[in-house]
Amino acid sequence: MSYTDVLGQQEALRVLRGALTSGKPGHAYLFHGPEGVGKTMAATAFAQALNCERGGPEACGECLACRRAAHGNLRDIELIEPGSKSGQTIEIDQVRDLITRASTRPTEGRRKVFLLPQSHRLSPPAMHTLLKTLEEPPEFVTLILETRDLTSLLPTLISRCQTVRFRPLSPDALAEILRSRNVPEAKANVAAAYAQGSAGDAIALATDAAIWKRREQTLDLMAKVARMRRAETLRAAEELQKIAATVKAEKSPAPDDDAPDSGGAADSSSADESAGGGDASGSARSARVGLSGVLRVAQAWYGDLLALQAGGEPAGLRNPDRADELQAALRAYSPPQLYAALDLLLKSEYLLQRNANPRLLSETLMLRLCPQG
Ligand SMILES: [Zn+2]
Repeated sequence: MSYTDVLGQQEALRVLRGALTSGKPGHAYLFHGPEGVGKTMAATAFAQALNCERGGPEACGECLACRRAAHGNLRDIELIEPGSKSGQTIEIDQVRDLITRASTRPTEGRRKVFLLPQSHRLSPPAMHTLLKTLEEPPEFVTLILETRDLTSLLPTLISRCQTVRFRPLSPDALAEILRSRNVPEAKANVAAAYAQGSAGDAIALATDAAIWKRREQTLDLMAKVARMRRAETLRAAEELQKIAATVKAEKSPAPDDDAPDSGGAADSSSADESAGGGDASGSARSARVGLSGVLRVAQAWYGDLLALQAGGEPAGLRNPDRADELQAALRAYSPPQLYAALDLLLKSEYLLQRNANPRLLSETLMLRLCPQG
């Protein structure tokens, strides 16, 4: 993954390329933009490029620094996340600690890079302390902050950073990224339409066979649900859970409103990996995570039905490859039923994150999504 993969905007690319080719990177960057557009992926890739031994405009991916960075083992790239004390905020102690470590030269790479993907969680005292560092940073230090919302940061902090704005990528730009990764044209177009501007989601769907299969199976099931009789809903619920169990290695979504920035990409939410406890709770958790993924595909399906209902063009759908089945399903539902279905799917995802039982939830869901239910 290179940072250019996830930057849809020439302006932002110019800033980062300039930093790498001039040999004079800035001391602080602030990546801002909505969720799911690749801020974290770009920050990680940019940090790697800053440390690449070859010093080109992209990380080479082959030198020792690149290989270590790719495995998260390069000591000079540090991730600062909300501390263990509250789990919610980045505390002043952590920032003081950062300042201490920032005062020593890099040992393995070329620059000390500190990544703060949740900079909106800096506590106010932590933010003020960080601000002091940014007034006179050591010449070998770069901080990369990320935020969805610029108002969550002190204006003085923002003014010390070079801001890089992230926008959702257009389907054309996403398809281009996928083609450059040798994804066949037809698959690239489907994934690009589906991913809603997120490079991470598009790449995951187009290149991870299990995620692709889950989408296919979920959409098949949703098409079936539209023609289903009430007596068939239990079997459909079983099928739903089977599909949910197919994606094993997927990372779980963050437990709060901070959805991972990059869909199925490798850098998303590693924080809760260790929180699972024993095997039983681990498998229950993975059932919930799998079902969550299925629910998001189902949301795209019902979102498309609502778009068609409102007179939208098939070309603008998230699942344009399923336009015929969508048209057929549309006849089975009244508009209020469609709104209720989408609402139910969104609520179900919320409940799953709060430990709802996947089996019961699947059964209720199928019963209520059945047009005759
Ligand atoms: Zn390299």
